[in-house]
Amino acid sequence: MAKVLVVAEIKQGVLKSSTAELLSKAKSIGAEAAVVAIGSGIEGLVPELVKAGSDTQYIADDQSLELFSAGPYAACVVEAAGQFGADQVWFGFSESSKATAPRVAAQLDAACASEITDVTLGDDGLQVVRPAITNKVIQRVKINTDKLVAVVRAGAFEIDESVSGSQNVVKLDAPAPDLKAVIKELVSDASGEIDLADADVVVSVGRGARNEEGIALVKELADDLNAGFGSSRAMVDAGFMPHSKQVGQTGKIVAPNLYIAVGISGAIQHLAGMSGSKVVLAINKDPEAPIFNIADYGIVGDLFEVVPILREELKKVKA
Ligand SMILES: Cc1cc2nc3c(=O)[nH]c(=O)nc-3n(C[C@H](O)[C@H](O)[C@H](O)COP(=O)(O)OP(=O)(O)OC[C@H]3O[C@@H](n4cnc5c(N)ncnc54)[C@H](O)[C@@H]3O)c2cc1C
Repeated sequence: MAKVLVVAEIKQGVLKSSTAELLSKAKSIGAEAAVVAIGSGIEGLVPELVKAGSDTQYIADDQSLELFSAGPYAACVVEAAGQFGADQVWFGFSESSKATAPRVAAQLDAACASEITDVTLGDDGLQVVRPAITNKVIQRVKINTDKLVAVVRAGAFEIDESVSGSQNVVKLDAPAPDLKAVIKELVSDASGEIDLADADVVVSVGRGARNEEGIALVKELADDLNAGFGSSRAMVDAGFMPHSKQVGQTGKIVAPNLYIAVGISGAIQHLAGMSGSKVVLAINKDPEAPIFNIADYGIVGDLFEVVPILREELKKVKA
C-alpha cells in the first residue's frame, strides 16, 4: 500500500482547504495517508486534520516555528516522512511549498515534481500529470525513483466529504534553527482584502476597463460578490493594479468556483493562471476574444454597460 504524507497548509493558525483536498486524493488512490503540521500553537488543529482524512498526525508545534523558514520546515517534513515510511510527500501549491519541496526531495533522494494535477498508481507504476509550457502541453511523467515529492496545483483535487481519518498524534521535536537564513518578520498586505488564492469567487479586470474609473466599476462588482479582485498583466504593467493582484503565468494561480474575467482578452499567459477555475464567466465586447473559448458563460458587450446591469440584477437576487 502506498504511503502518502501530506504537508498541511496553515495560514495564521487556519488550516487551508488544500490539506483536505490532498488527503481526499491520497485516500482515493488507496494510499495510507498521514499529515504533518508545522507551526506554533497548532495542536488544536488535530481534530480538523483527522476529519480531513489523515490516519497519523505528525505535529511539530514550537515557538521557533511560528514564522515560515524553509530549512527548519523541510527538516520537520523529512523527519515525519522518515517516521511514517512515506513513499510520497505532497504539498499544496504556495510560495512556502515551492521553497520547501526541493529541500525535502534532496534530503529524501526523491524525484521532485512541481505543479502536478494528477497522480496515478497503476500497472505502469507511479505517474504524475502536469501541464507545461503555459498549459500548451500536458505531460504524463513516470516516476522511476522509489520516492516522490510533489507540489500539487491549486484546485487540482476535490474534497471528498465522505472521507475521514483516525487520531494518532506523533509529536515531533523542534528542529535546529536555520543559521543561514532567519526570518525576522512577515509583512503581509495590510489592505484587508480577500486573498486571491483563497477566494471562492474571483473577479479580474483587464485592459478593457481602460483606467481607474473602469477599475473602480469592476471592483464594485467584486465587492458585491465578496470576491477576490484580480487583474491581467496589462493593467499591472500600466501601473493601475499592483503585481500582487496579477493572475497568470507570471502572477498568481487561482482555481475558484467562479472566475469572472472582465475586459480580458484571454492570452495564454493569463489562462495559465485561471484555467483551473470551476466556472468561468467572460465579459468582453469582442465576440472573437479567445477568453470565450474557455468560458462556460459569456456576455458579449461593453463592460461599462454590462457590469452595472449585473450589479442591479445581483441586488435583486440578494433582496
Ligand atoms: C512572458 C510573459 C508572461 C506573461 N504573464 C502574464 C500573466 O501572468 N498574466 C497576464 O494576464 N498576462 C501575462 N502576459 C501578458 C499577456 O500576453 C497579455 O498581454 C495580457 O494578458 C493582456 O491583458 P488584457 O487581456 O487585459 O489586455 P488585452 O489583450 O488588450 O485585452 C483587452 C480586452 O478587453 C476587451 N475590451 C476592450 N474594451 C472593452 C469594453 N468596453 N468592454 C468589454 N470588453 C472590452 C477587448 O476586446 C480585449 O479582448 C505575459 C506575457 C508574456 C510575454
